Amino acid sequence: MEMLERFKKYIAFDTVSDDNSLTYPSTKSQCEFADLLFSDLVSLGVKDVIKDENSIVYARVNIGKEKTLGLIAHMDTAPTIAGGIKNPKLIEKYDGSDIKLNETYTMSPNDFPALKEVIGDDLLVTDGEHLLGGDDKAGVTIIFEFLIYFLNHKDEFNYNLAIAFTADEEIGRGASKFDVNKMKADIAYTIDGGSIYEANFENFNAASAKVRIEGVGVHPGDAKGIMINSVLLGIEFNSLLPQDMIPSKTEDYQGFFHLDSFKGDVENTTLEYILRDHDKKLLEDKKGMMLGAKEQLLKKYPKAKIEVEIKDEYRNMYDYFINHMEAIELINKAYINSKTPIVYKPIRGGTDGATITYMGLPCPNLGTGDFNPHGRFEFVSLTQMKKMVEILIQLFK
Ligand SMILES: [Zn+2]
Repeated sequence: MEMLERFKKYIAFDTVSDDNSLTYPSTKSQCEFADLLFSDLVSLGVKDVIKDENSIVYARVNIGKEKTLGLIAHMDTAPTIAGGIKNPKLIEKYDGSDIKLNETYTMSPNDFPALKEVIGDDLLVTDGEHLLGGDDKAGVTIIFEFLIYFLNHKDEFNYNLAIAFTADEEIGRGASKFDVNKMKADIAYTIDGGSIYEANFENFNAASAKVRIEGVGVHPGDAKGIMINSVLLGIEFNSLLPQDMIPSKTEDYQGFFHLDSFKGDVENTTLEYILRDHDKKLLEDKKGMMLGAKEQLLKKYPKAKIEVEIKDEYRNMYDYFINHMEAIELINKAYINSKTPIVYKPIRGGTDGATITYMGLPCPNLGTGDFNPHGRFEFVSLTQMKKMVEILIQLFK
């Protein structure tokens, strides 16, 4: 089966995940897709395949080497617009012009600069009504293409191969049921999204902060010198934080405070923040600034009650890799040997790979050639997908 044919088969299968579901995986379609991948692995002749009770699929090809490298992709697609696209459009040797998706939607390189990076490539685009599902069916397809090569050229490789297809990544539960003991790899890579000329082994350190303010409520007519309006204190609290450290004013390695929710009345107000920074120390500083703002307000309004509850969420995997660079050195070697340039970009968010890394399996991310994910303007460069297969071949040598 050709790569394009396989990719079209997988994206035609709607595997949207559902944030409101309490089951794992969150949707039945992911279990059915896991069955499909399971039987596709078996039909290629892979003997060691399991689909576990969480519908995560693990496969291994042992070629008698000491070490094992793992490849991971997620089966679900984002719950944004409809998935399961049946009629994606192939654009051969893209010339850089506007792409008409349907009567209503046109995708232009002026609005989507990623298109300028793929001029000359073969692309697959949507029908304007569905997302493409390349996030992460492109990763699934790349892994299959590599597997086929691996099975036919076992004597070329220095590592055993382990594969996992996970569920519910898009709703933040992707790694929650992942089992490193079933994967049995020394190093793994998520193959998930973005340009293949970029890889990631850094993500945010993350914390959340809930600020509860209790004021003093009385009749506004008799309030002079008595009322403490907790809503106004909430506004003042936020004004004590650095006003430029917010998502809309930061990029690259700049961290932020994000006021995610603000609810209240005179007596009770709650502000919910997320705090993010790649640098552990700078995240601690941000926590300190929250507590400092609280102290400052309490000094000014001793009759108010203010609580700041801070919780750590996830960690930057970089802190792990700084002492375990082998996973990154293998990427460097693979890119050099396939004569492909690579830059490392910090992820401004979390990643399943970070969670898996702290489970004891180092897990950086590699790209797939999928762009503008989670919507109708998603597209893949089939040329980049093919190139990624070549890079994986070098990775395992
Ligand atoms: Zn993804």
